[in-house]
Amino acid sequence: MAKDWLFREINRSYNAYGWRNREILYADDARRFIFAGHAAFTIQYFWLSREKNNFRVRESGTPDKYAVSVEGDNGHWTEIGIVDSSRLELQLNEGSGQPSKGRAITDFKYLLQSIKYPKEYFDLPDGFVVQHNGRCGRCNCQLKHPRSVAIGVCARCNRTLRSRWTSLVYKPPYSKEFLERQDERVREIVAKVKAKRTRREPRS
Ligand SMILES: [Zn+2]
Repeated sequence: MAKDWLFREINRSYNAYGWRNREILYADDARRFIFAGHAAFTIQYFWLSREKNNFRVRESGTPDKYAVSVEGDNGHWTEIGIVDSSRLELQLNEGSGQPSKGRAITDFKYLLQSIKYPKEYFDLPDGFVVQHNGRCGRCNCQLKHPRSVAIGVCARCNRTLRSRWTSLVYKPPYSKEFLERQDERVREIVAKVKAKRTRREPRS
């Protein structure tokens, strides 16, 4: 356990992989980055598709609401909807359900899902690549420090953004009560089988 923790901490602060590829690897970093105000990034779920989509998530003026745009093949940006940063839900604009944007929408929803229901160590799913363009998601400055590049936000903006979010909580897929109930069932079944055996024994 301690080793896991250490591994995660080292990985987060000197994230050479994320730094080289400008890739965001953790769900909490992804949340802070995409809702920083001026985030521009690319998503590719390369286990499912070769398609890469460029996104922009911008402040819309209303708190907690951010406008999401996707770049089309011709370099033209279209707004696909509004994302709620507290509920992590995407509300699509009318007409944005076109097949050309299908992959982009599912990928973006998947990103929101992986923030809402993070994995145990808060890493994003394997093969799911969220890549920024080397600029801070809030003030648009060029990122230089490896740590900043790994999280997509510069050190100064990170100081402001850090206090905005409560840390993510991992919920195991099965609750403690569920597991206890399951144990109880198993114990009942074992008891039944044992009872049957003891009944049979005198006959044989
Ligand atoms: Zn910044």
